[in-house]
Amino acid sequence: MGMKISVLYLGRMEFPKFRLVQWEDEEEMIKSPAVALLIQHPTLGNILYDTGNCHEHQELYTPDMLHNYPVVECISVKEALAAKGLTPDDIDQIIISHLHFDHAAGLKDFVGTKAIRNVLVSEADLKEAWFSVTTGNGGAYIRSLFDLEGIRFKTINEDTWLAEDFGLFVQKSHTPGVIGLILKTEKSGTILTTSDTIYTRDSYDQGIPPGGTINKTTDEFFDNLERVKKMEKELDAQLLFGHDFQQIQEWAAKGWIE
Ligand SMILES: [Zn+2]
Repeated sequence: MGMKISVLYLGRMEFPKFRLVQWEDEEEMIKSPAVALLIQHPTLGNILYDTGNCHEHQELYTPDMLHNYPVVECISVKEALAAKGLTPDDIDQIIISHLHFDHAAGLKDFVGTKAIRNVLVSEADLKEAWFSVTTGNGGAYIRSLFDLEGIRFKTINEDTWLAEDFGLFVQKSHTPGVIGLILKTEKSGTILTTSDTIYTRDSYDQGIPPGGTINKTTDEFFDNLERVKKMEKELDAQLLFGHDFQQIQEWAAKGWIE
């Protein structure tokens, strides 16, 4: 029996599109979903990839974040797991694509569970997160969201296979190390997740680089884009993007999101 994948929709942010991708029209708005994956794997156990926003965003996020990327709908990862009959205690390992607020804010739901002692991130992103928050230039990182009681990070520097059907690849774009997944499923073929190195299908198909102030250059975006396109072809894979509302709706319509 293979793994079972559930895409967890954790609500959304809404803001002008130019803050996500390079875009002329400053009025056009975009819906930006927060997404997590639950992978129920026969040998690795229950793995959670990303944890979305949290209900306490008004208190915990910076005024800049709340202003630029307002959370208009929030479903906590704990609530999304409960809808599947699971609790944080049922999760064996957490993989965080990168420690930005909209991916890490649900980590605190796992304090006191086995999963908080088993949080996998890229070494480069963890260093960037700590450096940012301890030098007063947090950017999209918030210390209180990941500096949690009992947390133990496991880090990777390079592409790593946790099982023969479960791979991780480290992308040097968006942050110094964003983890994408390679999931070889029986039911839906191979799925590649990009997280925020590629936000949307449009960005991928049309090569639209990220907007806003988070990404310093577009070179990394295009280098990574080329690599992901190559992987897509070699693995005959389907892609899941970082913040694509339309894709989440399409996947839900196909019954891929339970
Ligand atoms: Zn994000």
